[in-house]
Amino acid sequence: MRFSWTWQLVPDECYVCGGELEKPVKVGNIGFGLHPECFLGYWRERRQVPTLGIKRSFGGTPLKTVNMECLQSKFSLNLTDGCLHECVYCYARAMPSSPPHGIFFLRSGIVERVKWFVRNARVVKPVYMSPVSDPLATGELAKLTVELAKFFVGEGIPFYLVTKGKVPLKLFKVVEGFPFFALQVSLNTLDREVLRLLEPNAPPPDLRIRNIIRAKNHGVFTVLREDPHMPFLTDSPEQIKELTCLALDLEVDHIVGSFVGMRASSVSHKEYLYFWFRENGMDWLIKKYEKLFARGSVISGYRIVDWRYRFEKLRQIRKLIVEVGAKTTYGLCMEGMRGLWIGDKCEGFRFPPVRRRDGKFIPVEGCGGECKVCTTPCTPRQVKLEW
Ligand code: SF4
Ligand code: SF4
Ligand SMILES: [Zn+2]
Repeated sequence: MRFSWTWQLVPDECYVCGGELEKPVKVGNIGFGLHPECFLGYWRERRQVPTLGIKRSFGGTPLKTVNMECLQSKFSLNLTDGCLHECVYCYARAMPSSPPHGIFFLRSGIVERVKWFVRNARVVKPVYMSPVSDPLATGELAKLTVELAKFFVGEGIPFYLVTKGKVPLKLFKVVEGFPFFALQVSLNTLDREVLRLLEPNAPPPDLRIRNIIRAKNHGVFTVLREDPHMPFLTDSPEQIKELTCLALDLEVDHIVGSFVGMRASSVSHKEYLYFWFRENGMDWLIKKYEKLFARGSVISGYRIVDWRYRFEKLRQIRKLIVEVGAKTTYGLCMEGMRGLWIGDKCEGFRFPPVRRRDGKFIPVEGCGGECKVCTTPCTPRQVKLEW
């Protein structure tokens, strides 16, 4: 049988029990890079799921403009395919190139490729690290991220990180005083048990809160992503209040709110979420989710839950910000509902693309981030570079 490149990279033996693997290993449409029973056994024993990092020589374009409208004014950069946090709602796992559960691929040589790309580029859009992975998920990745941060700061390339991982102090030192850096910390509840269930390998809430405190101490523009909220798990009025008020106490610059979406074109995305609920004795939740999804719709390729349900919860966050009288702005991710926003930017900031002049990168003036209708496009065509 001929396997796709992702399955070819998966070992022939289960890395937990050493037994033979009959690839592709599937439960319904869900792929696993080891025996599903070993995956679940490991979770029950350790309250974490197993993950194996496999080096993959990376030959693609390291900085890419992806198709989603809101990401077109940025370059996306992922250091891995798949992510070892293994969040049960993970959007990355719904991508066709995603490795099966329990495996992630390290893009070997990625840092050199990024440097090469930038050194040969005329225009560089702000770099988003990392839309479908976490740039600080391991110590090894954190080292690469610090190296890239030094490079971006040195070249004057705007960039930002979205993470659940531990932000090293070194990184804050590198970006201190650089105007084009922002940190977005993802955290949808302070409830440790719920987080362990939903994001089995990600660091606990206190570590993520510490990232926010340190970022603020270093003068970094800091965003809390309450994203994605998971109905009946993270979004009770008490949970939303506790998290949002803590963020406001810490004077985060911006909050992003959103609800979970299930990729409509990938059956395994929702299947895995329900598989996980079932394996954790939460069949009752599946029925409730089905009802909410049935009353929902599809936005940008994602099936989302009932509008009214989302609106009430997302409005609570806005109300809390307004009541406190905080300077914090508020935006929503793929939710619409512009009337709830405070400010006009979903992420709270907008960095300009930069262009090369006299050997240095300087901001392109007048960029509104609306590439689709831009009258002075900075990159007329995606520049295709020879490697
Ligand atoms: S941190 Fe993001 S990319 Fe990583 S598993 Fe969680 S949702 Fe997926
Ligand atoms: S200048 Fe135009 S094309 Fe370039 S990032 Fe801004 S909006 Fe997009
Ligand atoms: Zn096994």
